Amino acid sequence: MTLKGKTAVITGSNSGIGLGVARELAKAGADVVLNSFSDRDEDHRLAAEIAAEFGVTARYIQADMSSAEACRALIEQSGACDILINNAGIQHVAPIDEFPTEKWDAIIAINMSSVFHTTAAALPKMRAAGWGRVINIASAHGLTASPYKSAYVAAKHGVVGMTKSVALETAQEPITCNAICPGYVLTPLVEAQIPATMEKYNMGREEVIKKVMLERQPSREFATVEQLGGTAIYLASDAAAQVTGTTISVDGGWTAL
Ligand code: NAD
Repeated sequence: MTLKGKTAVITGSNSGIGLGVARELAKAGADVVLNSFSDRDEDHRLAAEIAAEFGVTARYIQADMSSAEACRALIEQSGACDILINNAGIQHVAPIDEFPTEKWDAIIAINMSSVFHTTAAALPKMRAAGWGRVINIASAHGLTASPYKSAYVAAKHGVVGMTKSVALETAQEPITCNAICPGYVLTPLVEAQIPATMEKYNMGREEVIKKVMLERQPSREFATVEQLGGTAIYLASDAAAQVTGTTISVDGGWTAL
C-alpha cells in the first residue's frame, strides 16, 4: 500500500499515538502535517526527522484544538488534506459531582468539537481532490464506559456518533469516515504512570501492567502505535473503500467482554 501523493493531517501529533500514526503514514509514503498547541523547536524537529527518515514532506503547524478558529486554520494552512486523522485528546478523572467545569469544557472542545471543526474544513478539500479519508481516533471509551471519566466518555461517544453522520453525508462520494477505538496503548503518557503504580501496589513492572493497568484488556497486552498506524493505513486503502461509518476496535478484546 502506498500513500504517495496523499497528504495526511494528524491533530495532536507531537507525541504518543498521533506521532506514531504519522510515522507509519509517512513510512507508507504520505506527506504529513504534524500538530499540537505548542510551538517549540523540538516540535518542528520531529517533522524534519520524519521528512529525512522517510523521504516525504513533513511540516509542523501549531494550532490549539480547543479553539474552533484554530482547528479550521490548521486545515487551511495544511494545503491539501486527503487524510484527516483526528487524534488530539486529553483526559481528566474525577467523580461527576467534583468534575471541574473547565475540565469538562476543555475535554469536550479538544476531544470532540475539534473533530467537527476540522472535518467541516477538510471535506471541501477532499471533494475538490475527488478522494478523502476521515479517521477519528476515538477509544474503547467511545463504546463502553468507566466511572469518573464522564467528560471523556461523553466526548468519545460523541465522536463515534459524529463519525456515522459524516459517513452518511459522504456515502455517495469517494470519501469515507471511520473511527478507530483503541484500548490501552503504551504511549509515553501511560509509560510515565508505571513507576508510581509499581510503588502504590508494591508490584513489579510486569505485574502492574498485567494486573492493574490491563485489567480490562483481556489480551493483557498493550496495543501499539504501530498497530494503530497500520489500521489507519488499511482505512486509507482501496480495500476499505466501502468501509464507512463504522468503528474498528484495537483493544485486545476489551469491548467483547
Ligand atoms: P498523548 O498525550 O501522548 O497525545 C495527545 C496529543 O494531543 C499530544 O500530541 C498533545 O500535544 C495533543 N494535544 C493536547 N491538547 C491539545 C490541544 N489543545 N491542541 C492540539 N493538540 C493537543 O496521548 P495519546 O495516548 O497518544 O492520545 C492520543 C489520542 O488517543 C487521544 O485522543 C486519546 O484519547 C486516544 N486514546 C489513547 C489511548 C491510550 O491508551 N493511550 C487509548 C484510547 C484512546
